[in-house]
Amino acid sequence: MNKSLSGIGMTSQRTRARLIERLREQGIRDETVLAAMFEVPRHLFVDEALASRAYDDVSLPINFNQTISQPYIVARMLEVLRGGGPLGRVLEIGTGCGYQAAVLAQVAREVFTLERIQPLYERARKQLRELKIRNVAVRYADGNLGLPEAGLFDGIIMAAAAPSLSAVLREQLAVGGRMVVPVGAQEQWLYLVERDAAGFRETRLEPVKFVPLLIGKA
Ligand code: SAH
Repeated sequence: MNKSLSGIGMTSQRTRARLIERLREQGIRDETVLAAMFEVPRHLFVDEALASRAYDDVSLPINFNQTISQPYIVARMLEVLRGGGPLGRVLEIGTGCGYQAAVLAQVAREVFTLERIQPLYERARKQLRELKIRNVAVRYADGNLGLPEAGLFDGIIMAAAAPSLSAVLREQLAVGGRMVVPVGAQEQWLYLVERDAAGFRETRLEPVKFVPLLIGKA
């Protein structure tokens, strides 16, 4: 667990504890993920005007027509990404405000996160730096390309819906790696892609609702 967060957001601990209870009721079982979500002060990632709603289980606007994901879906995706085991290097596509990256930082050794909207990228970087989260590298880049120069990843997670499962991205998975991605347009489904020595296995999990994965930098 990332020591740097202890002491930050003490006042919101009770509200966060209630959020964790709700996540449990919704079926999240991974204690490592629940502990990480308890640790990260979500209210610091949204505008002050919305801070009072930061621990409601809803997605909230973060400017530029983007949203901070609903806590349930963050918890669910991280639970699937972990698959019950520890995570080494993880690539996140769609940093947004950086909340999910901050949670990932608690459960993975090293996190790379990509954002295509420059002001969001800058804000997320600043926020993560202020929280002294040091195992996240934020990049201003088009996530469609992944981050091949960083080597292979044990986990890849996408916070925006792609039109189809990306072959480019799955090639950046290490053997034993897992990728969790929302796929589709009007109707979206969460997919798990696992890579083993023999190849890739895809599993369709549940219906979801994400902003679309766009192309190029903005
Ligand atoms: N992870 C965020 C959710 C961000 S919403 C959280 O913690 O709440 C999805 C984000 O994906 C948006 O910020 C959007 O700008 C970004 N995005 C969409 N297409 C992208 C692309 N091709 N490359 C990188 N980021 C992208």
